[in-house]
Amino acid sequence: MRSSGLAGCDAGGDRDLQGSGRRGGPGLNPDHREERGMTVGFIGLGTMGLPMAINLVRAGLEVTGFDLAPDAGARLAAEGGKVAASAAQAMAGAAFVVTMLPTAAHVEAALLGDEDALSGAPTDAVVINMSTILPEETEALAARLAARGHRLVDAPVGRSALEAARGALLILASGTPDDLQAAKPLFDAMGNKTLDCGAVGNGSRVKVINNFMGISLNALTAEVLTLAEASGLDIRLALDVMRGTIAGLGHMRVTYPNKVLKGDLEAGFPVDLAHKDLVLALNLAARVNAPVFMGAAALQSYSVTRADGRGRQDYTAVYPVLRALADLPDAIPYDPSQDKEYNPFA
Ligand code: NAD
Repeated sequence: MRSSGLAGCDAGGDRDLQGSGRRGGPGLNPDHREERGMTVGFIGLGTMGLPMAINLVRAGLEVTGFDLAPDAGARLAAEGGKVAASAAQAMAGAAFVVTMLPTAAHVEAALLGDEDALSGAPTDAVVINMSTILPEETEALAARLAARGHRLVDAPVGRSALEAARGALLILASGTPDDLQAAKPLFDAMGNKTLDCGAVGNGSRVKVINNFMGISLNALTAEVLTLAEASGLDIRLALDVMRGTIAGLGHMRVTYPNKVLKGDLEAGFPVDLAHKDLVLALNLAARVNAPVFMGAAALQSYSVTRADGRGRQDYTAVYPVLRALADLPDAIPYDPSQDKEYNPFA
């Protein structure tokens, strides 16, 4: 059992870290940390990084920021942060190094590139990468840092620049429990919920999968509203209808926990009818020349599910069919006993 004190990535409740003071903390050499206080070298002051760095300053941490764009640090300085002339300068003597950069290549270049910037940071400094990168890239970075005596916390963020400004990010933290505990004051300043996602790499893993869903649903939402308008409907009516059904309320909270994740495939809404209704929608779209790329792809999943003899099962039976195609074991490794009934239609 991990003891970072953070809520697990799959946990429902909010558990706070125990005894996270502003100073010192397990996982760091307390003597050195006391000398340096909560000093942060923050690399990448873009759309996300700048408001995150500002929130660290507002929480009382000593932040030195660096960005390749010369003017990026002006607002940080106005808020009381320092602006360094190089990544190496920002990291020199810092207890924490935070990177918020576009890609893994940028993170590698900033930390370990030509300048070898990280060499100026104390070996017990905790490096926290909050950029969205692949889990394999994160694990490779952790190994490269470990070879130099540095520890990596993998902590990408959910939500957007608005929540970054409000200090209301969802932080998907992974690393050793001690390192997560040490980084908690930073997470608390930048976000309003931090989940302990396990070993380094898992934060990136769940972030990429979360974005897969959010980004795909955006494309589906654009198709839906385009189809509604092309069909002659008022957009507000479409919003009102879909906000009141599973379409807008989401399968993660309602159908999946209430049906397939409970092992219940008795049809609430059968695959055959879902297939029929999706064909109706594609037919309607064809008549009004509306593009329905996502809908056309979804039809394939329902066709395959019917071909698997599951036409009369609940439409969430698409999930076991896709699991089988991914060569996963028959039993879903999920314990529904902790789930509370969620009925948004009550
Ligand atoms: P951004 O492009 O606005 O900012 C990146 C900053 O990094 C730029 O200011 C750039 O000059 C700087 N930079 C690049 N290389 C550098 C280097 N070697 N040293 C110093 N600075 C360097 O990007 P963003 O929107 O802030 O996103 C940062 C990361 O956060 C990305 O991985 C992104 O996927 C992720 N993310 C973004 C959002 C969002 O809504 N924008 C939400 C969650 C996560």
